Amino acid sequence: MAIVGYGPTGQVLSILLAQRGWNVTVLEKWPQPYPMPRAVSVDGYAARVLATAGISEAISEFGVPGADYIVQNAAGETLLRLVLSSDDEFGPPRSTSIYQPGLEQALARRGEQLSALRVRRGQEVVQVADHGDGASLRTRNVVSGESSTLSARWVVGCDGARSVVRDQIGTTVTDLNFTIDWMACDLVPHRLADFPPANTQVADPTRPRVAATAGPRHRRWEFMRLASEPLESFSTEANAWRLLELFGVGRDQAELERYAVYTLAARNADRWRRGRILIAGDAAHQMPPFAGQGMCSGIADAANLAWKLDRVLNGAPGDLLDSYQRERQPDAQRAIEASVQLGRLICQTDPVAAAHRDHAMIGRARNTANRAQAAPIPAVRPAPGGFHHVAGDGTPGVGAGQLLPPIRVRTGGTAASLDDQLGIGFSLLLRQKDVLGPEAGDRLDEAGVRVVHVLSPDDRAATEAGTVVDVDGTLTGWLDSIGATAVLLRPDRYVYGTAVDSAGLTELARSFLAQLPARPTVRA
Ligand SMILES: Cc1cc2nc3c(=O)[nH]c(=O)nc-3n(C[C@H](O)[C@H](O)[C@H](O)COP(=O)(O)OP(=O)(O)OC[C@H]3O[C@@H](n4cnc5c(N)ncnc54)[C@H](O)[C@@H]3O)c2cc1C
Repeated sequence: MAIVGYGPTGQVLSILLAQRGWNVTVLEKWPQPYPMPRAVSVDGYAARVLATAGISEAISEFGVPGADYIVQNAAGETLLRLVLSSDDEFGPPRSTSIYQPGLEQALARRGEQLSALRVRRGQEVVQVADHGDGASLRTRNVVSGESSTLSARWVVGCDGARSVVRDQIGTTVTDLNFTIDWMACDLVPHRLADFPPANTQVADPTRPRVAATAGPRHRRWEFMRLASEPLESFSTEANAWRLLELFGVGRDQAELERYAVYTLAARNADRWRRGRILIAGDAAHQMPPFAGQGMCSGIADAANLAWKLDRVLNGAPGDLLDSYQRERQPDAQRAIEASVQLGRLICQTDPVAAAHRDHAMIGRARNTANRAQAAPIPAVRPAPGGFHHVAGDGTPGVGAGQLLPPIRVRTGGTAASLDDQLGIGFSLLLRQKDVLGPEAGDRLDEAGVRVVHVLSPDDRAATEAGTVVDVDGTLTGWLDSIGATAVLLRPDRYVYGTAVDSAGLTELARSFLAQLPARPTVRA
């Protein structure tokens, strides 16, 4: 396996594959890790994937729970508030504010623990070719200029917005034409207390701007370039300090670690795979950062692709990989559209239009002030042609495509996360043991599906292997909400399908194995 690019998407994907025992070679053009942050937050799902990649212990080094997401107008009135904090949920916060270099360091350290993962830095990939039964890559050493060639069974381009691998796939790109320049300033305050945690977008038509926490020690402030401002004079350190005054940040209060001007983009590649070559992360899609979804989408791509590549490397048909684009591309598109929608709201520079917006939104914000609002990204739907159970009438099976929430369980007398108990493969959650008949049991066992029995706290079998105790009713409540006695979960924690009785579970197992025949495990 070869992966091009060791940004967050390439890091997570290579770790998830190497954890499964596959030899992975990563080619990264930068000789040293890129030291500057871009992303400042990860959502709850991305945090769970990072935990699966083995860095949950390190998260507190570079992350803190995120503040509520607030859009306010020039007068400081709230136009929109998304409640991200919650006391009653288990698992990672809905949003974690992060310092990206710390995240990348933690992933790099994790990568170093995996003997199957080899990272070759200072190697720029200049060409990729698909040969039907494998692929080849031509690289250039960025220091010596020396060229070399390498072959791989599959290649994934995680090489960012200017992806060479995407060019080789030869795809067209759907562009929402949302291109605006913003300056991002990363600072280390001398006294953190002077700048309390924030996640605030200031929709001021005279200067749209953002204040955000970036992990435990950093703060991020961002400013939009106005159409009247030449790029040269906008992108100077003096201008960065002048703009920072809008948030009351002076040179005596913080160290300016860096400032950089980014041109935002909203694009989705139309084709994510050609033969043995695939793309993921910013190579496949780019979005403005207003919903904090760019890197999270790349991490979700990695979670979706890793188990499919694992199965295909183990002998499953390569067509399984077509479900990767079918599932992830619409999701990325929803994230792009939500980001652009927020962007249009925040980047409004016409004072009359901004006043109309404020009037409409202030009323709405008041009406919803006391209740948690949904995340801006709509919930996932089972994708047509995705990898999930399909009922006899061709519609998605009940519960298919739902995401397992983070759930606290007890196992062998110890509190644990259900994610940790499920491991990195497929799993079957069973509410009643006898629903699993011998045929379905044997078939699922052959396919390496881990069976987990869900018990109530007073059940006597609570200490047996393969059981989890639903300590607070959350798991049972979720099973009720999707009307399931048994749930077949994919390794990325999305529901493959559900059953209510023994006959249904036998049918579910048959359908699963028809889509994903069990093969002997091979390693390469
Ligand atoms: C100001 C700003 C704020 C943001 N805030 C957020 C946020 O809060 N939350 C969020 O989720 N996202 C956010 N994002 C988006 C996020 O930073 C990106 O989506 C994310 O970094 C993409 O990760 P990636 O690994 O796909 O690509 P990249 O991070 O671009 O990594 C690509 C890697 O590939 C390497 N590479 C490129 N070409 C080659 C080649 N030919 N050969 C070898 N190596 C190559 C590069 O050197 C790089 O290391 C923000 C972005 C910006 C600019």
